[in-house]
Amino acid sequence: MNIHEYQSKAILKNFGAPVSEGRPALTVEEAVIAAKMLPGPVYVVKSQIHAGGRGKGKFKELPANAKGGVRLAKSIDEVAAYAREMLGHTLVTAQTGPAGKQVNRLYIEDGCDIEKEFYLSMLVDRETSRVAFVVSTEGGMDIEKVAHDTPDKIATFSVDSATGVMAHHGRAVARALGLKGDIARQAEKLAAQLYNAFVRTDMAMLEINPLVATKQGELKCLDAKISFDSNALYRHPDLVKLRDLTEEDQKEIEASKYDLNYIALEGTIGCMVNGAGLAMATMDIIKLYGATPANFLDVGGGATKEKVAAAFKIITSDPQVKGILVNIFGGIMRCDVVAEGVVAAAREVGLTVPLVVRLEGTNVELGKKIIKGSGLNVVSADNLDDAAQKIVKATRKEAA
Ligand code: ADP
Ligand code: MG
Repeated sequence: MNIHEYQSKAILKNFGAPVSEGRPALTVEEAVIAAKMLPGPVYVVKSQIHAGGRGKGKFKELPANAKGGVRLAKSIDEVAAYAREMLGHTLVTAQTGPAGKQVNRLYIEDGCDIEKEFYLSMLVDRETSRVAFVVSTEGGMDIEKVAHDTPDKIATFSVDSATGVMAHHGRAVARALGLKGDIARQAEKLAAQLYNAFVRTDMAMLEINPLVATKQGELKCLDAKISFDSNALYRHPDLVKLRDLTEEDQKEIEASKYDLNYIALEGTIGCMVNGAGLAMATMDIIKLYGATPANFLDVGGGATKEKVAAAFKIITSDPQVKGILVNIFGGIMRCDVVAEGVVAAAREVGLTVPLVVRLEGTNVELGKKIIKGSGLNVVSADNLDDAAQKIVKATRKEAA
């Protein structure tokens, strides 16, 4: 689960990390009130969307030379003008995709005198099963580009969870950022604060880009992006409240209501599969035959007819989907239950794209009979290879 910058900063502040003063705003009036509570004379109006690259982003509705989604305002009037230009408008950044994201919230923050911008992020390193720090002197820019062009400018090290964060980790952060004296002490302290925040709130990722040194010699987290481990959210009801559904994929929200493991993807072939491994294999084989999956969907082990029907409806509601592949290996999951769910959903919402079904395992004969007797235009397949080829071919024919 992702949250907004202003929410991330509030969490970091609770753990003692240095952030600028600021307030969220949903309207132009709120933005003005928020700005008036800040010392000035420079205010920063920041679009709150779940995507980075806002500063360099462009608003769809504004002329191409208009400023981006993060702007420095030199007066309260300017804050109001910028807020008006941003709210309700669509911001396109390198991370939103061409469709962009509508800006519904702003964060009005105290302007800061930046001396230097750094990069700091933390994540769970799967190889070492530890929380890792990634730090670089090259802040404020695209870290993937830095990693590609100048990998020596990125330092990475992990923390043993048995000892937790220690003084030497803090020193490693300060050293990697080339800091000395008092500001190095601040970096050491920050490393511990961020580590504690990360572990105690079950984050999956924390990115501070940029972390800055101010002209006044202070270290500050000027941007903050947090992603929580969804599997740990049950431990944090207070964090769940920060979820902003308007930022999430509607299909994914619907899927979560039915406890389906669903991820929307870019392709055209909708997949309904049981078991994450089989779902991955199905996606791979679709790719092998030259098409791309529209989603990852694991309906789970003991899914009911209702759950299968919900999954099927989510797939058919996606305008990108040009064909559907149902690939079920019945174990605990019975093929007849899947067939009933698919047939019920297809009857209810109609079936406008080709559907290929491959069933195998428990009650497979009964499942096939239900589908055959449904009168629906379903192509059956005998194995995964056959199924993938059939659906790719069927969608090609439709497109032609
Ligand atoms: P994004 O990464 O989405 O573009 P950031 O929050 O990193 O958004 O802001 C982009 C840039 O704007 C920063 O790299 C920094 O130079 C500047 N900036 C952001 N917040 C402030 C602030 N409070 N004071 C001064 N400059 C800021
Ligand atoms: Mg940033």
